[in-house]
Amino acid sequence: MATMRVVAPRLAPMKVAQISKPGGNFEIVEREIPTPGPGQVRVKVQACGVCHSDALTKEGAWPGIQYPRAPGHEVAGTIDELGAGVSVWKKGQRVGVGWHGGHDNTCRECRRGDFRHCQNVQIPGISYDGGYQQYMIAPVEALASIPETLKDVEAAPLLCAGITTYNALRHSGALPGDLVAVQGIGGLGHLGIQFANKFGYKVAAIGRGSENSSLAKQLGANVYIDSKATNAAQELQKLGGARVIMATAPSSKAMSELIDGLGPNGELIVIGATFDPIEVTPIQLITGSRTIQGWVAGTPADSEDTLRFAELSGVRPMIETYPLEKAGEAYERMMSGKAQFRVVLTM
Ligand SMILES: [Zn+2]
Ligand SMILES: [Zn+2]
Repeated sequence: MATMRVVAPRLAPMKVAQISKPGGNFEIVEREIPTPGPGQVRVKVQACGVCHSDALTKEGAWPGIQYPRAPGHEVAGTIDELGAGVSVWKKGQRVGVGWHGGHDNTCRECRRGDFRHCQNVQIPGISYDGGYQQYMIAPVEALASIPETLKDVEAAPLLCAGITTYNALRHSGALPGDLVAVQGIGGLGHLGIQFANKFGYKVAAIGRGSENSSLAKQLGANVYIDSKATNAAQELQKLGGARVIMATAPSSKAMSELIDGLGPNGELIVIGATFDPIEVTPIQLITGSRTIQGWVAGTPADSEDTLRFAELSGVRPMIETYPLEKAGEAYERMMSGKAQFRVVLTM
């Protein structure tokens, strides 16, 4: 057979929503569609969730970010090109990329199989351009396959908000029937309540004000506690004390106030990210052998578990969608705390 030189057609440029300096605004720019290197794939992005942690990129709060940078670590799309040496993954396959954007496979933690804590862990939108663009390059270590019945806009928020709440709860040690409180009914909390319900816990949702009460119950809460009108820790103690309190709202003060709501061996799981200190006395922790634990999302294998469990159980994010061109508006909406509940960019 005669060899024929196949000239790849020049690809049209793509749209990118980028931040060009710390504290800068979103800019919609055109760039050449990138080519995946060895061990990487190119993902045609279909949807990307807007996460509170995107502020790290927007405001330059994470050390070492190189600008311009496209944020986005809740990416759902389709593999549209494979780099050299990529097997297993196929063109046309639906994949997601979450907070865990790659690991080095060589550091002490990786050698122990603890990829989540890789010393050189990569984060999409921070270490490299994330999902706020029409095409992104991702290393194969970052990929999770998306089950057929989940839509892209539904899968995207599950890759950070979803995996974080699902993974934190499933490793918490709480057993079916235990009292599990979810503090905050927002992007994380509305998923946390659903997962906690599907895991068979007695779910107490804690919000400020009465307005989220009926929604929290629709999502699967057995009890709604209004922390503005009542002392939430006391309310939890009336129910026997929480085995787990998952703190999703980024308020260290609100978290501190809940510690006395923990029962014996109770655990405060911190996933709402802030820079303020949580206040607790040694006596509060010693009494009842209570613990406070932080939790970072999970590996792409955990993402797949999250997506499959969501498919199986019917857990779905509630979303508001914005086109990529309105990334700035979408980000403001997320930051306002008024979104119901997760903002998702569509391409
Ligand atoms: Zn996130
Ligand atoms: Zn490593």
